[in-house]
Amino acid sequence: MLYTIKKIGVFTSGGDSPGMNAAIRSVVRACAFHDIKCVGIYRGYEGMIEGDFKPLDARSVKGIINKGGTVLKSARSQEFRTEEGRKKAYDKLVEAGIDAFVVIGGDGSFTGAMIFSQEYGIPVMGIPGTIDNDIFGTTHTLGYDTALNTVVEAIDKIRDTASSHNRLFFIEVMGRDVGHIALNVGVGAGAEEILIPEEDLGLDRLVESLRRSKQSGKSSSIVVVAEGDKTGKNVFELKDYVDENMSEYEVRVSVLGHMQRGGAPSCFDRVLASRMGVKAVESLISGNTNCMVGLKNDIMTLTPLDLAVKGKSKINLELLRVSDIMSI
Ligand code: ATP
Repeated sequence: MLYTIKKIGVFTSGGDSPGMNAAIRSVVRACAFHDIKCVGIYRGYEGMIEGDFKPLDARSVKGIINKGGTVLKSARSQEFRTEEGRKKAYDKLVEAGIDAFVVIGGDGSFTGAMIFSQEYGIPVMGIPGTIDNDIFGTTHTLGYDTALNTVVEAIDKIRDTASSHNRLFFIEVMGRDVGHIALNVGVGAGAEEILIPEEDLGLDRLVESLRRSKQSGKSSSIVVVAEGDKTGKNVFELKDYVDENMSEYEVRVSVLGHMQRGGAPSCFDRVLASRMGVKAVESLISGNTNCMVGLKNDIMTLTPLDLAVKGKSKINLELLRVSDIMSI
């Protein structure tokens, strides 16, 4: 069914990521360009249920393209998971005359949008905003590139200490289900080993590899570990294991944590956000709904939300081999 859209709501939901503000700005300005009203919905589905809305025009999003976090705030809403909660949200949207929305978030946020759209027939469009890059249908999610740069910079600094003291560092990075961050920063920061959720390196092989590194004359070592790594051991347990099995190393642990999610977006993320916002608004205008905008081969694409949610984003196995060769 083709809708004539007059007012689009935009909100951020789930975990924040750098580039969300640039995407909000893009949605607002694309609406202004096409003479459609735009409304900012604060605190994700929580704010939708409460009617926490504010009209946004092209000038109200000035000075935010370079800011991390999200000016619309983000939240997780238990109430939206219930039919009653979604009914309240729908009533608030109708009251405000919002007839379509763009949700910037991860797969949970998209699942909510999909269910809502099925129940109430309101057109929805998703923009993937998460640093983990764990969404099917796009080679890059918003914030991923910034996070890679942030983490590489942090590891470079840790390496200064590692090499000054002949230490082995286990560095935990984000990535519960996918190892994109670990794999890329591991290669980019010259890590000796990379532990990711997709591959079980095995603890024996890890120890063997670290021994070889030591024997080949390396004075320090960095092992990048994704949160959800397949060995099933966290960085502290890995330290204990190496302490027990390799007395030649002085082992330290660093958990990078939330600093990975903050900071000014990279140029890549700002450009991606600008393209995604325009694509989202223009796709709604041309009658598309229930899709996520994404990037494939440098072209903006649409993927049905159910596929984006169900599909699995895959790591680049070639990088694993490159990493092996580099750590010779
Ligand atoms: P991140 O990748 O940072 O976790 P996300 O979008 O996956 O981001 P979630 O906390 O999973 O974050 O989801 C955000 C919100 O989407 C939830 O708080 C909830 O309000 C809504 N949501 C998620 N799943 C559902 C569902 N099955 N039904 C209705 N709403 C949902």
